[in-house]
Amino acid sequence: MSKHLLSKSTFIRSQQCQKSLYLHKKRPFLRDKLSAVQLAKFRRGTGVGVLARELFPGGIDMSPRSPSQYEQKRNETAEALSNHEINVLYEAVFQFDDVLIMLDILVRDGDNWVAYEVKSSRSLSETYMKDAALQHYVLNGCNVKLSDFVLVYINSDYVFNYELDLNQLFIKRSVLTESELQAETIGHQITLSKLTLELSNSPQLSIGIHCNKPYPCDFIGHCWKNIPSNSILHLTTFDEDLRFKLINQGINTIDDLPKEMIQNECQQLQIEALTINEITYNANKIKVYLNSINSTLKKQGSVSLKLLVHRPAVPFIYLTQPYQLLPLALSIRNNDTNATESISFTLDLKGLEDFSKIMNTIFNENNLVITDDTDIIMETLFNVQSILSASFSFSPESAKEQLIGIHQLINEGQVFHPVLRNDWNMNDTILALTGKNNSLKEEVYLINDLLKADGNEETARILQRLATYPQAIFQLFEKIQQLQNMK
Ligand code: SF4
Repeated sequence: MSKHLLSKSTFIRSQQCQKSLYLHKKRPFLRDKLSAVQLAKFRRGTGVGVLARELFPGGIDMSPRSPSQYEQKRNETAEALSNHEINVLYEAVFQFDDVLIMLDILVRDGDNWVAYEVKSSRSLSETYMKDAALQHYVLNGCNVKLSDFVLVYINSDYVFNYELDLNQLFIKRSVLTESELQAETIGHQITLSKLTLELSNSPQLSIGIHCNKPYPCDFIGHCWKNIPSNSILHLTTFDEDLRFKLINQGINTIDDLPKEMIQNECQQLQIEALTINEITYNANKIKVYLNSINSTLKKQGSVSLKLLVHRPAVPFIYLTQPYQLLPLALSIRNNDTNATESISFTLDLKGLEDFSKIMNTIFNENNLVITDDTDIIMETLFNVQSILSASFSFSPESAKEQLIGIHQLINEGQVFHPVLRNDWNMNDTILALTGKNNSLKEEVYLINDLLKADGNEETARILQRLATYPQAIFQLFEKIQQLQNMK
């Protein structure tokens, strides 16, 4: 059998954009660097897949160690299927119509088989259904008689109770009928993708909303590189569909935009920022946000706080749920004395108790707590309260009145700058507001390093990097305060 042309992931890629498939296969060097967030998601997916195997223990792992083993593993899979002593296979390898798949779990069911595809998310998407339909198509082509095809995903209502109950953690949903119905379409789409791969140049496809849906494409850096800095595509205050519609009508730059299309002050401010290449903002809105802090509290102190959290797909602490935020470390700076302290928490009930004690001290002794993103603090406080019940001497709801978030200040204060794009990011915000390249280590890396840290010395080194955050947060806060006074 000849080498495959498509896999599960390249087929799914082709469904988003045929050009992306072509570039991935023929011009991989043009791909953007994998972001830290995407890398973390990928690793999480792999871990959940391995855990789900325990739903059907005792199987044989067919995972190829490298692409050179695909053929061998395909042959071993075929042999295993006809061996009636083998009932469960993990990562069984099949190829049909030039598409190679590795099925997460295959379980014998009398003379038939049940296929299981595991997803680490809490809901099923159209992409997952297509993924299942493709695998069903290949299995059918390989004459594997299926009595069912099941998607396995995470039950968001599951609560960990001393021992992991995989049958409660995972939800199983049969998609056999939907997959069968899509067989003909899948066949056509495979043919189309194979034709794309025969082209001598990449297909002439324009950029569009498909560049970010359902996933951000990793060739955006290449395809979008000639978009001018005054393109209307940068106007995130306008609906994305509308921006592409305008481009198709020949309205490419901000200068081309008819005045009557600008509907609010927010859009006007963003247009101004992109035109003059400087920061623009709404001083009144900044004032309103800052005044929402309860100044009647009889406390004096002000601290800057950076909290790192872990969001495990599979819960492991009593009463926690999938993807619930858990405190991992924090760094706190007294804004009057400049003293900074950083602490890491163990991922257990004691760690949650330590976190609640520190938060009690912080919120009881200070009037103002400045952080990068208040949503993270609030969600973590509510989570910890629900697990430990009545662990705080203040109500997490009232903590809102003491909290200021830089992210929220930027949004509420309608602060715009050409480097501030859709994704909130501390380094971009520092660059926009101060003109300096601060290069804080991205928090997703700090979290990853902390989770892997082997010993106190390594943890201390990571906490040192974390300690650079509170000062940066305070500098941004001061900068935004100055903006408010300048108008
Ligand atoms: S950036 Fe857009 S047009 Fe370019 S390959 Fe990706 S999805 Fe296709």
